[in-house]
Amino acid sequence: MPSTIKFGQNLAVDVMNDAGSYVLVTQTPPFTSVLKSKLSNFPAYTLFPKKMDIHYQEELAQKKSSKQTIGYVIGFGGGVAIDTAKYLSWKWNLPLIQIPSIISTDAFLTHEIGVRVENKVRYIGKVVPEQLIIDYEIIKSAPKVLNYAGTCDVLSICTALGDWKIAHEQFGDPMDVSIFRSARDCAQRLLDDAFIIKEMQEEGIRKLVGYLQEEIQICEKWGSSRPEEGGEHHLAYCIEELSPKRYLHGALVALNILTVLRLQEDYAEFQPAELKHFFDIIGHSYTFSQIGVTSDIYRKALDSIMFYVRREKLEKGIWYTEDPFLRYSIAEIIDWISKF
Ligand SMILES: [Zn+2]
Repeated sequence: MPSTIKFGQNLAVDVMNDAGSYVLVTQTPPFTSVLKSKLSNFPAYTLFPKKMDIHYQEELAQKKSSKQTIGYVIGFGGGVAIDTAKYLSWKWNLPLIQIPSIISTDAFLTHEIGVRVENKVRYIGKVVPEQLIIDYEIIKSAPKVLNYAGTCDVLSICTALGDWKIAHEQFGDPMDVSIFRSARDCAQRLLDDAFIIKEMQEEGIRKLVGYLQEEIQICEKWGSSRPEEGGEHHLAYCIEELSPKRYLHGALVALNILTVLRLQEDYAEFQPAELKHFFDIIGHSYTFSQIGVTSDIYRKALDSIMFYVRREKLEKGIWYTEDPFLRYSIAEIIDWISKF
């Protein structure tokens, strides 16, 4: 965690105007649409990264000549801008200021630098931002559906916990009851705040960032992402491998939460209907067409997920059980989702 997260109005402009010489890592919207006209201290140069592929990132890193004196790397934008800013700050050994323009994942709060090597996320280092800025006006100006996606890096707790119980009871993995309970409580409080989250005004933004921070602290306390990441994320990685493109992470995970909760049955800590109800209240995306995944790809992913998790040596859970599709066949799951 950075020492503090600063929340407030119009902070982004002030921070950039006070930053001295900096490299800005951003995206066309929001930079040109909401910020550029208000700046008086312009970046030494601006990068508009397109992807997290390691070769592409290395090329970006070479754009800085050794003669340039730069004080900061500032990340301003969504996932790719924030992740690239982490990478460049680490690579150039420069302090980092992060200003997310959306809250679509927990990546702006984590220190791990994730790049893609042959379409798979690999964590290659760590960086702690000197400042993390949440500018209400900027977050509010983003499409709400992008911010709603941020809920799913907290709500994946709902399925991760069922998987943790499976791993503990069937495979003898370690369990910590107090961490389990605090994770469950965190997810439940987010579910209870549906109407505040839906509004995505100052209170909703503060709460969502707070739940994401809490989720990360719970994982740090346990020592891995076990309390937050389970079969729902694993299925998302499998889909990304089968059909590589940029999905809205929190939408793909949302659908997978529903699927995994259904298959977990007695191990499920939450009911699929509770989660679906929450997504419907806030207006979050989770259907095949909203996510941009076909029923055919989803079927293939369910067909190969048991093999995939073993090959990738992912944590144990629903996909390691003898037959996850004993009660509901893959065809029945696809049929169920198609009616959403
Ligand atoms: Zn995630």
